[in-house]
Amino acid sequence: MDAALLLATIQATIAKLDEPAETPVAMAQIIADARFLLTRVAANAVKENRAPVTFTCEYCGYEKTEEHGPGQLPRYCAACYPEAQRSLNRQRVKAHRARQKTAEASPVALGATERQSSLCAKSSASRL
Ligand SMILES: [Zn+2]
Repeated sequence: MDAALLLATIQATIAKLDEPAETPVAMAQIIADARFLLTRVAANAVKENRAPVTFTCEYCGYEKTEEHGPGQLPRYCAACYPEAQRSLNRQRVKAHRARQKTAEASPVALGATERQSSLCAKSSASRL
């Protein structure tokens, strides 16, 4: 969405907000539209504030200069980012499997495993 269209859509939505909505569903739709437009405005603001930043990639170790929005410096360069994410996932899965294996191997730790799995179930349920 370009800036002119975004502005026109925002003005139309503001006009709708000033009039009483016919139904609660219509009001909810106007609020949803306003919410969506705000996210677009925020995304455009980040895009406009992009500037070249120089940082050292933690994956390849090279100093890189890339365009980034305001905020924390990136940890990985654009070229390394997908591979760095995969590598972190592999490490996390490996550590998780190692923990599962040691818990299965030692009967003393069974209580801990049961507690862990109930915690896992709880945390995955809260994520839903
Ligand atoms: Zn890199």
